[in-house]
Amino acid sequence: MDESGTPLAHDASEGLLIIDTGALVDNYRVLRGRLRAGSRCGAVVKADAYGLGVVRVVPALYAAGCRDFFVATLAEGKVVRPLLPGDARIVLLTGVRPGLERACAEAGLVPVLVTTAQIQSWVEATARDGVAAPCALKLDSGMTRLGMEPAEFRRLLQLPPLLQSANIQLFLSHLACADDARHPQNRQQLQHFSDACSALRQVCPEVETSLANSSGIYLGESYHFDVARPGAALYGVNPTPELPNPMRAVVRLQLPVLQVRQVECDSAVGYGATQQARAGSWLAVARGGYADGVLRTQSGRGRGAAVIGGAACESEQRVVVPMIGRVSMDSCVFDVSALSEEQRGRLQAIELLNDQLTVDHMGAAAGTIGYEILTSLGRRYGRCYL
Ligand SMILES: *Cc1c(COP(=O)(O)O)cnc(C)c1O
Repeated sequence: MDESGTPLAHDASEGLLIIDTGALVDNYRVLRGRLRAGSRCGAVVKADAYGLGVVRVVPALYAAGCRDFFVATLAEGKVVRPLLPGDARIVLLTGVRPGLERACAEAGLVPVLVTTAQIQSWVEATARDGVAAPCALKLDSGMTRLGMEPAEFRRLLQLPPLLQSANIQLFLSHLACADDARHPQNRQQLQHFSDACSALRQVCPEVETSLANSSGIYLGESYHFDVARPGAALYGVNPTPELPNPMRAVVRLQLPVLQVRQVECDSAVGYGATQQARAGSWLAVARGGYADGVLRTQSGRGRGAAVIGGAACESEQRVVVPMIGRVSMDSCVFDVSALSEEQRGRLQAIELLNDQLTVDHMGAAAGTIGYEILTSLGRRYGRCYL
């Protein structure tokens, strides 16, 4: 914030995040193309579309045909609702807090409910002529996170009047191990959820069903149900970690080089003096640190691509260079000794993410997953949408 309280403008000179909405839409089409006939492809756009910006991501997906959007919270839903025409549904994956049911219904948002008490409150707060506003119900089929306990679900099935007045449009559950196709829990959850769908349909014949996240789509047609809920794969994360990535990279991250220097003698680089640069090594200090989502846990393991030659040059090339020393708050250091003198002279930026250095690679280097790389992407970069 500046002195008047106005947010400071993002500045491309502090790093540039390039977001390829064409690749995003291609990824949506690839995922949709995997689904069995009759199954729709939704999109999870929680956490500001995994950090990439709902304002651009949501309209692009709507234009590609997506009508089922999933966010985490009421606040996120209120941001996304005006970006979409009325025929798009927005589901709140973490539901609605007590007392906010009417606000949620009036905002045109569909909460995921997980207890019988929540369903009762929803009906009491939103029913008109005995029918509540649309809601969704989530069963815990084995992940043991947010979801209705199976025993409670069986008791709920004994309350047809409540179920019928609740206006449950979507019945969902979430897979814990979908990214590991061989994990036995996938089949167990599938069986459990399929049985529950049949039971619920006895009481609510119109309800739609949903189980698959990105990876779930690749487990096969029996996992697809009526609506799929991919998130990460839309943004370039590999939904099949043991196979080549069927998705296109969506983000490119370029960090400006602040200083290129040759160290005179053997020198310990950065906080904690954790790594040595040999005498005569060339180092590039880049503007981007852990406050920008360059996770400190990738210190000494991360990689970047030295971008040689600017956009105006026809001979733009990239050379992969290792990070050296600890990532600081605002900067990190790369060993660019592999570049020739001429290349060093034309060094434009260090690219941390591109179609070769993916969010999955960076996640592995940082001891985490591509999801966390995306949602950590900093707020100080300039952003450019292609
Ligand atoms: C985040 C989330 C998704 C999307 O998962 P991806 O692995 O990113 O595809 C789907 N369903 C629920 C309930 C979620 O919380």
